[in-house]
Amino acid sequence: MEIGIIGAGAAAVGLLDALPPGTAEAVTVFDPAPLPWRGRPYQPDLDSVRVNVTPEISSIRFGDGGHYVRWLGERGAVHMDRLLGRPLVPRGVFGGYLEDTARAALTKFGRARVVRAAVTGFSAGERLTLTTADGRRHEVDRAVLCVGGGTPHDHYGLTGTPGFVPDPYPLERTLADVPADGDVAVLGSGLTAVDIVVSLAARGHTGRISLVSRSGALPYVWQRPREIELRHLTFERVRALTGPVTLDSLAGLMRAELADHGEDWDELAARIAADARTADTAGVLRRGVDEVDAPAVGRQILRITAHGLAPRVWRMLPGADRRLLRERHFRTVTGLASPMVPVNAAALLDLFASGQLEAVRGIRKIEPGCGPRGGFRLAHAAGERTADLVINAVNPPPHAIPRAAEPLVTALLAAGAALDPSGGLRTDPASGRLLVGGRPDPRVHVVGDLAGGGSFVTSGIPVVAAQAHLAAASLAR
Ligand SMILES: Cc1cc2nc3c(=O)[nH]c(=O)nc-3n(C[C@H](O)[C@H](O)[C@H](O)COP(=O)(O)OP(=O)(O)OC[C@H]3O[C@@H](n4cnc5c(N)ncnc54)[C@H](O)[C@@H]3O)c2cc1C
Repeated sequence: MEIGIIGAGAAAVGLLDALPPGTAEAVTVFDPAPLPWRGRPYQPDLDSVRVNVTPEISSIRFGDGGHYVRWLGERGAVHMDRLLGRPLVPRGVFGGYLEDTARAALTKFGRARVVRAAVTGFSAGERLTLTTADGRRHEVDRAVLCVGGGTPHDHYGLTGTPGFVPDPYPLERTLADVPADGDVAVLGSGLTAVDIVVSLAARGHTGRISLVSRSGALPYVWQRPREIELRHLTFERVRALTGPVTLDSLAGLMRAELADHGEDWDELAARIAADARTADTAGVLRRGVDEVDAPAVGRQILRITAHGLAPRVWRMLPGADRRLLRERHFRTVTGLASPMVPVNAAALLDLFASGQLEAVRGIRKIEPGCGPRGGFRLAHAAGERTADLVINAVNPPPHAIPRAAEPLVTALLAAGAALDPSGGLRTDPASGRLLVGGRPDPRVHVVGDLAGGGSFVTSGIPVVAAQAHLAAASLAR
């Protein structure tokens, strides 16, 4: 059997690692990227572009939480986040872990090769035919889509405008031409925006930096991870609920869980709601830094639940509750689920304190060519401002179809696959098999964010590793 893997990021590495020896004689991995195995996030870049997650939950091998920690060994010591007490390495270093894991995994197969081209076509006959962008056809017996989430969206139609950076990574290249005294607007206020601001500061930027977004809210700050045993927010307790699974019934479990830990859910929920409304972005950040070591575990429980339980119960929620989360609370929940690392929070606080950094909320319009040096004019809730440069940090929503995979997805739809109403392709969650004509197709699997039907939080490494494990088990069957 020959397996064709489309995309060579973390999902592909997790899959190769999880495939039991003897499952396939040959694998062919397709990706146009110059450096395979790193995907979009883990390419070599500035040291200030760090992983956003602690080592204990960054293993690409499902069921072996120590796999990355062992690889990291002493390498982590020089990248210690002192506030968090954990090593947080540059993402390029994590890319080295993925690369080493992939190389070791490839030795399991009789033949393994990487084709440096995007897959743009698909057809199914006795075997599967994958067509690459150069027009070549490759026959395989199984195909696994590991195409990731793609590049930022250009909401303001600025691509091609001088001074607009449509995709910030690698920051080593995109920030190289930014004048140190330039007036920079960073579009977005999520983790990518944080990467950009921290990296500008690390390069000695002296000009004004504006974080420009609709909400003005930054992600929360990581707290020192603690051992927390969940007794109420478990899948078993959700299944045992009498009546439908709704946001209200889940809030009941949350209330009980927090009460067991001596905390009050209603108090925490009210504080989170106030944080989402306030214009005092720096104040919320300061409190986050102050609370890194606080004994309260409510936010940690929310983070753990967002990545562990939420993807499992997402499909059980009524459509109205899912819409409410996606449309009204997306920013808040992603900020809780994927907090920023304290070392970055401290750097941002310094910039806020000196007045160099501002958070601008309620962005309405961006027009090119209107500033004193060309530049841009930005209309926002409280007025207008100008900027010399605009750097895009608006990542696509979870389950978006990456531009590089659009022709392939079109071909899959023509072959009987279907789009999930909330994004991505419809798959069988138990096996990762693509639904073709409404039935799981054992020949085509999806690993990563293109698998539709999951929650609206972008999959981090642990979720990708779990999906890869399921797909590998399905392929081995
Ligand atoms: C900037 C950023 C930082 C992140 N940091 C973290 C973190 O620190 N910790 C964490 O747990 N998660 C992090 N994440 C979440 C991240 O999505 C996952 O960790 C992981 O990278 C997902 O892996 P993937 O293989 O699904 O996608 P990707 O890593 O995006 O890889 C997909 C690959 O598919 C290729 N591809 C796309 N279309 C085609 C095609 N048609 N043919 C062939 N190849 C194709 C692309 O070139 C790419 O190399 C981050 C995400 C982003 C965007």
